Amino acid sequence: MARYTGPVCRLCRAEGKKLMLKGDRCKSDKCAINRRRPAPGKDPKGRIGKRSDYGIQLREKQKLKRIYGMQEKQFSLFFERALRMAGITGENLFVLLERRLDNVVYRLRFASSRSQARQIVLHGHITVNGKRINVPSCLVKAEDVIEVREGSKGLVVIKESLKEFGKSGVMPWLNLDPDAMKGTFLVPPRRSDITDLADVKEQMIVEYYSK
Ligand code: SF4
Repeated sequence: MARYTGPVCRLCRAEGKKLMLKGDRCKSDKCAINRRRPAPGKDPKGRIGKRSDYGIQLREKQKLKRIYGMQEKQFSLFFERALRMAGITGENLFVLLERRLDNVVYRLRFASSRSQARQIVLHGHITVNGKRINVPSCLVKAEDVIEVREGSKGLVVIKESLKEFGKSGVMPWLNLDPDAMKGTFLVPPRRSDITDLADVKEQMIVEYYSK
C-alpha cells in the first residue's frame, strides 16, 4: 500500500498540533511545533480563518489518520468496521486503531514512533503468541502476548527505545516486561483510557463519513 513519504513534520504543522510522528525529536527543541514554524502558506501568527463544519470534520479525520500513520483507504475500512460493531462508532474506531499491531508495538515502547514500529513489524522482529507476524495492521486481542523475536532482542533501535521510553511505563491496558522485551495486551481500552488523544473529537469523524 502506498505510504506518505514526504516530510512528516509538515503534517503536524498542517494540523497545528504535535502528532508525535518522529520519536525522540518530538520531545526536543528541534520539533517544528515547539519552534512555532507555521505550515507553508499558513498565517505566521497561527490565525485560522473561519472553517466550515466540513472543514473541521475533515481536519479531525486527517489528524487521527496521520497519528496512526494510515492511508485513506485503510482508514475508511477501519471506520466501516467500527460502524458495523455494536456500540458507539467513534469509540469503536479508537478501539480498532489501538488494536493494530504496529500501534501496540509502539505503545509497548519497542519503538519510539508508530512509523518505526511499523518497520519493526514489517521486518519480522515481532511475535504474537509465539508466532512471527509481519503485518502492521493485524489486530491483536485480549491476552495476546507480543514479544520481540528472540533473534532480534539485540537490536539497538529496540533497546534504545525501551531504555528511553520504558521508564515512563505503558498504558493501563498493557503489561510490559522490559527485560524480557515482552508485553501483554490485557484488554481493549475504553475511549476514556486513551488520555493522550483526549483532544481528538471522534464525533466529527463520524459526521465526516456520514455525509
Ligand atoms: Fe510533529 Fe514530531 Fe515533527 Fe514535532 S518533531 S513536528 S511532533 S513529527
